[in-house]
Parts: sequence; structure tokens; C-alpha cells
Amino acid sequence: MFKVNVAMSAQRFRFRLGDFDCLVISDGTFAYPSPAQNVFINFFVNAPSARLTQVLRRHNLDADSWTEYVSPYPCLVIDTGQHRVLIDTGAGSFSPTTGQLVSGLHAEGIQPTDIDRVILTHAHPDHVGGNLDRDGKLAFPNATYMIGRDEWTFWTAQPNLGDLPIDDHGKQILMHVAQSNLHPLRDRIDLIDPDEEIIPGIRCIAAPGHTPGHMAVEVTSARDQLLHIADTVLHPIHLEEPNWHSAVAIHPHQVADTRRRILTTASKEKTLTLASHFPFPGVGHVRRQGEGWRWQPI
Ligand SMILES: [Zn+2]
Repeated sequence: MFKVNVAMSAQRFRFRLGDFDCLVISDGTFAYPSPAQNVFINFFVNAPSARLTQVLRRHNLDADSWTEYVSPYPCLVIDTGQHRVLIDTGAGSFSPTTGQLVSGLHAEGIQPTDIDRVILTHAHPDHVGGNLDRDGKLAFPNATYMIGRDEWTFWTAQPNLGDLPIDDHGKQILMHVAQSNLHPLRDRIDLIDPDEEIIPGIRCIAAPGHTPGHMAVEVTSARDQLLHIADTVLHPIHLEEPNWHSAVAIHPHQVADTRRRILTTASKEKTLTLASHFPFPGVGHVRRQGEGWRWQPI
């Protein structure tokens, strides 16, 4: 059973998982405009509007007066004793409110050169935007980078984002940030297939839909386990309404199946779970509720 032994600030959350030291560290936050507006990101793009209003109200969110949703952009550092692993690199210079990962690591006594493995759950801007430093050099120069084979193949080709219900500027941002942060890694990237144990105690699990090669990461040490579900869900409402997907889901038809598979396991096994965009640090448990699930933060 997971034992709580934590130190927490608004930016950093440390805990022990078996023999591993874990640190959830914020790269900053980003304010998404309300779904009621004409926006770049709509978290619930296919939700029937009457039902959406009802559900938002239950979460004390009013679709008309709600002007923005502030989402955390966390990264996870795992010190396994053998490796110092970083999962996702944040958004980097994407926004003035992001790019705080490296200064946060310094504050914890970790140098970017200490990181020897970087796992990228997927190639959206808020997960790969910190791959490079401000001079365009690799931000973690001693690391081998790892990403799902399907994810790499999709973004490094000329992907067709034509079907996404976002404007052309949004599509260009997605494409540009992915490509400019992936191409420089080509000599040191390991393309991974789902279910491989890629580092002792760390295994990637296919979670396609949000992006074609989106992956969850299962971390196991001694009798403890953490399931990092990345962007399988973006908001706690997605637990209740697993069919509602965001406007940036590249393969929306896969989103609900992926959620059902991963959330069923997490709730049955009572696995400690990390969801990237839930209120910081996004660590808690997924509990079964009716036809869906609910979030219980730690
Ligand atoms: Zn994300």
C-alpha cells in the first residue's frame, strides 16, 4: 500500500514510491479560455450543450461567466537509484507563464545534466516544449529520450490536422512545437512500443486517442505502484463523462475506449494515479462512480 510521506509546495510535490524518490514539479500554468467562447482549446467539444451546462454547474463552473480554466503543466522526476528519469518537459517558452521546470529542478538540487532518461508521453506543446533550452540546445544533454513509435512517426511526418476542430493558427502551433522539439532529438531517441519495460520498474502503456502514440507510464517499486495517465483525461469531468473529448484529440474515436481500459484498471487496483492537468500535483485515486469515475485527490 502506498504510504504518504510527502513534502509539498505549490510548485513541487515529493513522495516515496517503494525504493524510488518521486518529484512532481511544475513547469508553470496556462489559462485556457472558456468553452463558451470561440477558443483554441475546448475540453468538451462533443458534449451536448444542455448536459454540459448541467455538469459544469455541478462543478461550480458557469459556462457563461467562466472566462478561463487555469491548467497546471507538471513534469515528474523519478530517481530509481540507477536512473534519474524525467517524464515530459513542460511547455518551455510556449507562454510567459511556463518554462519553470529547470529553475524548479535547480531549487531541488537537481541539475539538467543529472537526468539520464526523458520519457515523452506525447508530443503536444505542453509535454515536449521544454526539450530545448533558450539557445535551441538539448535542455537535458546527457539524456536518452524515449517516445512512442507511433507518436514519433505521426509528428515527424507531415501530419494531417485538417479534421481538428480548431483554427489554422492552433494547428500550426501544434505542428511547429512538435516538430521543432522532436527533430533535434533524432540521434538520441529510443522509439518505444507499448508494454515494454523501458527502464527497470518503468513500463509504458498504450493510451491512443488524445494523440496517435499517447502513452501512460506505469512505475513500480517494491509493492508500490504509480500510474501516470498523462492526458488520458484533461479535466475531472472527463472521468464522469468519458465520451467527451477535447478539440485537440487527434483520434477522438479512440479516446473513450482508452479511458475505459485505463480507468477500469486504476480504479479496480486502487492504483495511485497522476493526471497531468488535474489540480496540482494531480496525484490521487480514481474511484468508480455510476457509469463513470470520480477523482479523489491525495
Ligand atoms: Zn497536456
